[in-house]
Amino acid sequence: QARSDGFNKIMIFDKNLVELVSYKNRIEIMLKKVQFDKDFFLYYQPQISLKDESIIGFEALIRWKTQEGEFIPPGQFIPIAEETGFIIPIGYWVIQKAIKQLTKWDTVSKRKPRVAINVSVKQLNERNFITRFQEILEKNNISPDRVEIEIIESVQLEESAEMKEMLQKLQQMGTSIAVDDFGTGYSSLYYLKNLPVDRIKIAKQLIDRIDQDIYDYTIVKTAISIARVKGIKVIAEGVETKEQLECLRQLDCDEIQGYYFAKPMPPEEAIERWI
Ligand code: C2E
Ligand code: MG
Ligand code: MG
Ligand code: MG
Repeated sequence: QARSDGFNKIMIFDKNLVELVSYKNRIEIMLKKVQFDKDFFLYYQPQISLKDESIIGFEALIRWKTQEGEFIPPGQFIPIAEETGFIIPIGYWVIQKAIKQLTKWDTVSKRKPRVAINVSVKQLNERNFITRFQEILEKNNISPDRVEIEIIESVQLEESAEMKEMLQKLQQMGTSIAVDDFGTGYSSLYYLKNLPVDRIKIAKQLIDRIDQDIYDYTIVKTAISIARVKGIKVIAEGVETKEQLECLRQLDCDEIQGYYFAKPMPPEEAIERWI
């Protein structure tokens, strides 16, 4: 039954928008109530060297199970947390958890794996980021070279002197820097030229059809040649098939990460299967 003031019409017209807004609100409200140690946990996905198929490290990926038992994927809540600034406490929680995991693994394995941690640009821009990061490393007695920081490139990464200096400082400590989702942002090549980077992670979108689409294949090929000029490593993300893997071998890609080799998994499983 339509209302004479047209309210219903607006509701119907903007139904998707209204749903989106209320979904976002719901996530925001739920995020405020989250109990970090209870509701958040990390999964780990192996990163494989193509040379000898050995594991070079694990990417830590956050998981959220609400108290009602609902799983909310990071692709849905991380962007909202970025908007609200809640990404900062989440980010420090992830760093702490992942570094603690290294000490736990060290008690059962001699392999000393490296962990790659996704860090929001917002967090990197925090004045005391390095200090807090160092504190966490020291407290857990973990060497900085066992951590890689993945910067999500699609987030606006301003070409600032501060950012460059900060990344350089991290590198001097021994921590490596990876550009995540390479090829999906606007200024990928520009970052590559101007920022200190150890590794690029070629976005899954470019890998998906690399064996079928000459255009995607050529972009990846070009990215790899540029990386070679700069002497940085290339890892391909979201590798799911043998055909994709073969293309990446042809292109002399350094490393892969993807379901073809292993899905993200709980830390106990990671250690059992791979360390
Ligand atoms: P990302 O950092 O690019 O991580 C790769 C995503 O691709 C992960 O999704 C991973 O599970 C998925 N993936 C890996 N291999 C395959 C594959 O072969 N096929 C398919 N279909 N997917 C694959 P996930 O865990 O859902 O994370 C999504 C995004 O959320 C991440 O993308 C990252 O941007 C963000 N994220 C996850 N954890 C964190 C975190 O701790 N902190 C921050 N700031 N962001 C995070
Ligand atoms: Mg990542
Ligand atoms: Mg990625
Ligand atoms: Mg991504």
